[in-house]
Amino acid sequence: MDILSIIFICIIGLVFGSFMNVLIMRVPKNISIIKPSSFCPQCMENIKWRDNIPVISYILLKGKCRYCKKSIPIMYPLTEILTSLLFVVIYLKFGLNLMFFKYVIFIFLVLVISLTDIYTSASDFETGMIPTVYIALGIFAGLVFGLLEGFFAYYLAGIAAGYLVLFFPAYIYSKIRHKEGMGEGDFMFFAMIGAFTGLGSIPAVLTFAAFFGITAGIVVIAVTRDKNYPIPFAPMLGVSAIIYVFFEELLNSYNWGSFIIN
Ligand SMILES: [Zn+2]
Repeated sequence: MDILSIIFICIIGLVFGSFMNVLIMRVPKNISIIKPSSFCPQCMENIKWRDNIPVISYILLKGKCRYCKKSIPIMYPLTEILTSLLFVVIYLKFGLNLMFFKYVIFIFLVLVISLTDIYTSASDFETGMIPTVYIALGIFAGLVFGLLEGFFAYYLAGIAAGYLVLFFPAYIYSKIRHKEGMGEGDFMFFAMIGAFTGLGSIPAVLTFAAFFGITAGIVVIAVTRDKNYPIPFAPMLGVSAIIYVFFEELLNSYNWGSFIIN
């Protein structure tokens, strides 16, 4: 692991994180991701390239637009830093090989889907939103890598298991409570995760996501006193999937069966 490669991947991560911000802001509103070029959402002034350098411009501008002086959301540099950090961790874990490209694509999609779900839930959209285009791209890419690894069926089964494992409880919930708990987007997202991490990942990812979901639910109810406050579930799945990728061996080496037998 040489320091130059790490710096290079760090920069690539920042650039991809910057592109991710564009996707998060524009795709849910059906705005083209190419035109117009970056502009300030407050004053609509075009942002010059030197004010659009990931993280650095944010620091130099002290987090404010050059023209209208309104603050730039901290979300922008944080997304860039998070993307960059995860790209570097993937490189440190897998090295520069097929798995590096597989998990860079995977983590990018997981982040963009989770953050879009959070952003759309928190802003003036009706509910959180998971654009189908990311799911379709992800399932396709996951299966291509599955084919290259020679375990196509394992990942195909991961897609089916990911979808069904959420679909059935959600279906029963909607019949009992007469309202939707999770949505189609969540089932599709878990199917996409299965396309990259395979059948064996589903129990662990589901367990973590349920744990994070319940914890978030308790905290949100305690803070807002609102039992019906919507909590986006995609980020719970996203965090769980990322944990699984980084700790797969550890999770699979633990003999879950021995816990019951002893
Ligand atoms: Zn401005």
